[in-house]
Amino acid sequence: MSAGTSSTTAFSERLEKVRRRIRSCAQRCNRSPDDISLVAVSKTHPAEAIREAISMGLTDFGENRVQEAEGKIPISGREAARWHLIGHLQSNKARKAVELFDVIHSLDSVALAQRLDRVCVELDRATLPVLIQVDLAHEATKTGVDVKDLNELVAAVTESARLALQGLMTLPPFFDEAEKARPFFRQLRGLRDELQARGVFDNRAGGLSMGMTHDYEIAIEEGATIVRIGTAIFGERIKTGN
Ligand SMILES: *Cc1c(COP(=O)(O)O)cnc(C)c1O
Repeated sequence: MSAGTSSTTAFSERLEKVRRRIRSCAQRCNRSPDDISLVAVSKTHPAEAIREAISMGLTDFGENRVQEAEGKIPISGREAARWHLIGHLQSNKARKAVELFDVIHSLDSVALAQRLDRVCVELDRATLPVLIQVDLAHEATKTGVDVKDLNELVAAVTESARLALQGLMTLPPFFDEAEKARPFFRQLRGLRDELQARGVFDNRAGGLSMGMTHDYEIAIEEGATIVRIGTAIFGERIKTGN
């Protein structure tokens, strides 16, 4: 057996395991597995790994850096999958991000919302789906909008011409005990429910992008509609300092 074949087998086994766990977790909490979408987080992994994942039926990929994505998305196929930006976006990379990504999960300021909206007009892009990243943990290294500033940012998005508000995203602190992330997921859902009642979401219901490799089952129990999973699908990342 060639190395390529055995790594393909390992990959498909990891992927099947994740899919199985998502399904059984959804069923345990009386949710439809179809209401939970999987974003495969391909950051630090090469385009070949992404192409293989596409051939295995994965349709959605998450990258956290525009610069890295710029070198991978065009060769993986801009139209071959849906691309999600899940990391902090600097204003000066807004144009590139609008070109490269289908969905932005990390909208965190009014200035960035206005910038993205302008870029969409300039690039003739009709709509840009966005999720607002909410900072619930106030860790120095994490980004996202403060809860107290959330309404102002929601207003900026709903008043924009081209941004479509799809939901909220959060990244809780890392706990060895994944259970400790639950209150953060629950709080995000509470915020989503309030906004849903006000009818601000483009898709009415409003999604919840939350849950990673070590806590996605807890996130699903708390209502996640999008889980962002890297390590459990692609294996360990080469450490790059983030
Ligand atoms: C890296 C990353 C993930 C995936 O992390 P894993 O633990 O590898 O599943 C999810 N969301 C964000 C924002 C990330 O940066």
